[in-house]
Amino acid sequence: MAHAYIGFGSNIDDRLTYITQALQLLLAADDVSLIKISSLYETEPVGYEEQGWFLNGVVAIETGLSVHRLLPLLKEVEGKVGRQHRARWRPREVDLDLLIYDQCSINTPNLTVPHPEMHQRSFVLIPFAEIAPDVLHPILGRNIRTLLSNLNDEKTVKLMEPPPKIDARI
Ligand code: AMP
Repeated sequence: MAHAYIGFGSNIDDRLTYITQALQLLLAADDVSLIKISSLYETEPVGYEEQGWFLNGVVAIETGLSVHRLLPLLKEVEGKVGRQHRARWRPREVDLDLLIYDQCSINTPNLTVPHPEMHQRSFVLIPFAEIAPDVLHPILGRNIRTLLSNLNDEKTVKLMEPPPKIDARI
């Protein structure tokens, strides 16, 4: 069994509903079980800034799926959650990123693990450090707590208040 850490985010419509649906679908998949879900954080957009703030978090799972099966599962879940709005050509309602998969280091055209930007983003490291501060980044050789304390990212990341209850069961 592998331990995988998945970052999730949504910035349109009912963000909490999309995130809940995505987590429910992910955790209902064969060979995936929940270890821990972080709190949700309201985060300022990075890159293209003319868009709504995100809700972000990180989920830790235990899985028997190989890393090459886990990525298609994440894409399938994104598709299922987003499908209801596809006709109106909207941005994706939910984004799922595979951040870390055990101590694997993978670099193929459609999969890079650890996620290449995770160590530069406070919206990833803050929820990650909340649930798994001691996990080691397999390439940088530092744990999540240290990556966060070394990070110089001025984007706002604030705990969602009041904390929502995410029911990750279907
Ligand atoms: P995104 O726009 O964030 O959904 O990502 C688009 C593409 O990034 C996906 O179709 C994946 O093939 C690729 N990708 C590469 N590495 C990763 C990763 N660690 N997690 C998620 N997507 C990845």
